[in-house]
Amino acid sequence: KPVRHVVGTTKVIAILNQKGGVGKSTTTINLGAALGAMGKQVLLIDLDPQGNTSSGLGIEKNLLNECIYDVLISDTQLTDIIIPDVCEGLDVAPATINLAGAEVELVSEMAREGRLKEAIGHVRGKYDYIFIDCPPSLGLLTVNALVAADKLLIPIQCEFYALEGVTKLLDSMKRVKSLLNPGLEIYGVLLTMYDGRTTLSKQVAAEVRNFFGRTVFDTVIPRTVKISEAPSFGQPINEYDPTGKGAEAYCALAREVSQRG
Ligand code: ADP
Repeated sequence: KPVRHVVGTTKVIAILNQKGGVGKSTTTINLGAALGAMGKQVLLIDLDPQGNTSSGLGIEKNLLNECIYDVLISDTQLTDIIIPDVCEGLDVAPATINLAGAEVELVSEMAREGRLKEAIGHVRGKYDYIFIDCPPSLGLLTVNALVAADKLLIPIQCEFYALEGVTKLLDSMKRVKSLLNPGLEIYGVLLTMYDGRTTLSKQVAAEVRNFFGRTVFDTVIPRTVKISEAPSFGQPINEYDPTGKGAEAYCALAREVSQRG
């Protein structure tokens, strides 16, 4: 296995939108895999109790003894649970359904908002990018991600009510920024599940670009059947359908991300 040298500083990016089904896990997997294929060293942290980022990469969750839950709640180190080389350049810190309990159990812990940040501190320099796939809520798990992250990537589905809840998300971000993580900023907003044949998709895209301005990535992720099929084969889109539109889009996004610095 070739040794990859991490050049420059690690970027820790939380992939967040408290709405479910907007493409958080899909983006975590496929952006991570595309950057890995470009020669970057990437860690994905699955912070969603549903564990779709883990299972979508073929990780058998019920065979795991420990997951990110144990890192947040006990003395388990992040390195103890990381599964290396799940794909080219890609390591994964998986989640199992145990993580669902963490939201409640963390409440009584010391330094409960900073658990993930502390854990990430031990592995930071080993990666170019660390992506955190957040759960669809603004609870303590998401607060842990907001405290640990340098930046946020917000996927927005090109559907009705696309911007619904965004104000609440930005309020949470501002609160964490002012109290716990002054450097926190939006890294980018990503339009997902875009269907160029519908006026709705075009309208939503225009509305989102109008609201967020230049933070919106030029790359738009199209809605494709292949993207939705890939997780059941445990593969990122660049392995499942390397020449298709989905792989092309996530590859373009990876280039944009690496250029954004
Ligand atoms: P979230 O993590 O925000 O809950 P997911 O990434 O799990 O959202 O996506 C929700 C559903 O939509 C999944 O079934 C996924 O396979 C599907 N999906 C996501 N992105 C696309 C896309 N670009 N084209 C088609 N289906 C998609």
